[in-house]
Amino acid sequence: MTFKRVLITGGAGFIGSNYVRYALAHHPEWEVVVLDKLTYAGNLENLEGVMDRITFIQGDIANPEDARRAMAGADAVVNFAAESHVDRSLLDPRPFVKTNVEGTLVLLEEARRAGVKRFLQVSTDEVYGDLSGTERHSVETDPLRPRSPYAASKAGAEHLVFAYGVSYGLEVVVTRGSNTYGPYQYPEKIIPLFITNALEGKPLPVYGDGSAVRDYLHVEDHCAGIDLVLHKGTAGEAYNLGARLAVRGVEVAERVLGLLGKPRELIRFVADRPGHDYRYSVDPSKAEALGWERRWSFEAGLRQTVRWYVEHAGWWRRAKERIEFRDLETKWYRA
Ligand code: NAD
Repeated sequence: MTFKRVLITGGAGFIGSNYVRYALAHHPEWEVVVLDKLTYAGNLENLEGVMDRITFIQGDIANPEDARRAMAGADAVVNFAAESHVDRSLLDPRPFVKTNVEGTLVLLEEARRAGVKRFLQVSTDEVYGDLSGTERHSVETDPLRPRSPYAASKAGAEHLVFAYGVSYGLEVVVTRGSNTYGPYQYPEKIIPLFITNALEGKPLPVYGDGSAVRDYLHVEDHCAGIDLVLHKGTAGEAYNLGARLAVRGVEVAERVLGLLGKPRELIRFVADRPGHDYRYSVDPSKAEALGWERRWSFEAGLRQTVRWYVEHAGWWRRAKERIEFRDLETKWYRA
């Protein structure tokens, strides 16, 4: 399947901006349109060096006029735009429902009207819910059992996406990626938070006893998976994207401190996240059968990411100065 004009929503965020770069490198013939509201997590600096090769529209996916304008002439949509931080969804779920559920609905409706060829919804492994106490790996046919407002809003969006596939024949595909890390990630998320706190000599807040386990997928691998599913995925299907890793929170902190040569004493165990899911783990066999494979080991990916944050101190310092970061820090990261 080939495309000419592709709308990438949320393209000024972490994974979206990495995907814009990936798309320009792998599909130089594409006309790329980015629609992004530029919330606290969106940043035009993330698109530095590629702005002259894309059409950037500042707007809201939940606003039909913005969505229509951005979708004009597009034959594919990749929807990254979302409120993406679990901790914020616990403080106020409403923007999550507005953007993640209603915004996705608006995009689907506009895509149907515009006759878009393919709609890819970027979803998450968190829709499966907690797997702790089992040795299981989630497969795509598993029921969705989201447990945080964030995960519930992403699951709600997925249900709408599949419903548009069935009800209106829109060609939809969904990716469910695991915890992603790499350059340009807003420093509220665990890996950039740990790296930047360590660089500032501040404590690294580890939830509970640090035993919650996550899979960690490098953003380039995640982008390659999304791109493959966009082109080769079967319409109406979901695809897990995961690195087959199981890393405890405390181990992430230890590795970051080790790479930066900082003392282990910087680890600070803090009150656990309410309703914390202790284990996510996806089986990515279905995406692998399409031809996807992970290229980054956690060791190499973490080393590269640490180096990026060391070399981009201005970028993350400005992000951490934002009122949204400071608010969250006082509420959740009282260390
Ligand atoms: P992010 O928070 O870094 O970026 C989100 C982007 O969406 C920002 O640029 C923001 O300005 C934009 N946005 C927010 N609301 C919008 C709206 N109403 N209209 C237009 N733009 C809006 O998020 P991310 O980590 O890059 O995640 C991107 C997508 O991938 C999300 O859908 C998320 O659920 C999914 N995902 C993330 C991870 C992860 O570990 N980061 C893992 C799996 C899936």
